[in-house]
This record gives sequence, structure tokens and C-alpha cells, in this order.
Amino acid sequence: MEDCLFCKIIKGEIPSKKVYEDEEVLAFHDINPEAPIHILVIPKKHITSLAHITKEDEALIGKIFGVINKISEEQGFKEDGYRVITNCGKNGGQSIKHLHFHILAGKMLGEKIL
Ligand code: 5GP
Ligand code: ZN
Repeated sequence: MEDCLFCKIIKGEIPSKKVYEDEEVLAFHDINPEAPIHILVIPKKHITSLAHITKEDEALIGKIFGVINKISEEQGFKEDGYRVITNCGKNGGQSIKHLHFHILAGKMLGEKIL
């Protein structure tokens, strides 16, 4: 999608520090990490947010969680644990309008609200 920052990262028009890539999914380090490890996992298909997922996207979303599991193994934080967050829409505080899952790891995470 034109004018979408994450679509530009997918196309390589904006550089990123990639940690995983296949034909459907890309993962890269967040530019402004909130934890020692802060990785963003995104579908290559432009989906605006969790609220925009359709029935046909469900396999892709399931796959993304498999990718997260794989990344946690490869990056060595599976055993210690981590947190996955997706911000959705205005009240969720979503700033980039391309569905993404934050993986936060590498320390005991604070500000637990749930
Ligand atoms: P949101 O607030 O939409 O849930 O998260 C967007 C995330 O994208 C933020 O954590 C922000 O630091 C990250 N981000 C914004 N611009 C860039 C960029 O150009 N490159 C990378 N790697 N991350 C970005
Ligand atoms: Zn996009």
C-alpha cells in the first residue's frame, strides 16, 4: 500500500534490521526499543489492524504466532519468556496502520495491566 511505512520496509524502500522473513511474514527490530529485545512481526499483506482481519486472513494470523514461537527459539528468549502486544486503533494507541505484533523480551517486563 502506498504511503504505508511498513509496506515500504517490506519492499526494502526503508531499511530495517530483519530477524525473520518468508513469503508472507517479516520480522525486524523496532527502531525505538522498549525492552532489550523488541521485535515487530508483520504480515506482508497490508492489513490495517486487528480490526481489519477477515476470514481469509485467519491462517496467516495463526502462522504469525508460529513465527513468533520460532523467533523466540532462534533469538534465545523462549525459556525466559516474553510478551506479545498488538495495539489496535485509536484507543489502542496504534500509530502505524499496518497490523503488527510487538515482541518484548530480555528483561522482566513492568507495567502489567492484565
Ligand atoms: P504502534 O504504536 O503502532 O503499536 O507501534 C509502531 C512501532 O513501530 C513503534 O514501536 C515504533 O518504534 C516502530 N517504528 C516506527 N517507525 C519505524 C521504522 O521506521 N522502523 C522500525 N524498525 N520501527 C519503526
Ligand atoms: Zn502496509
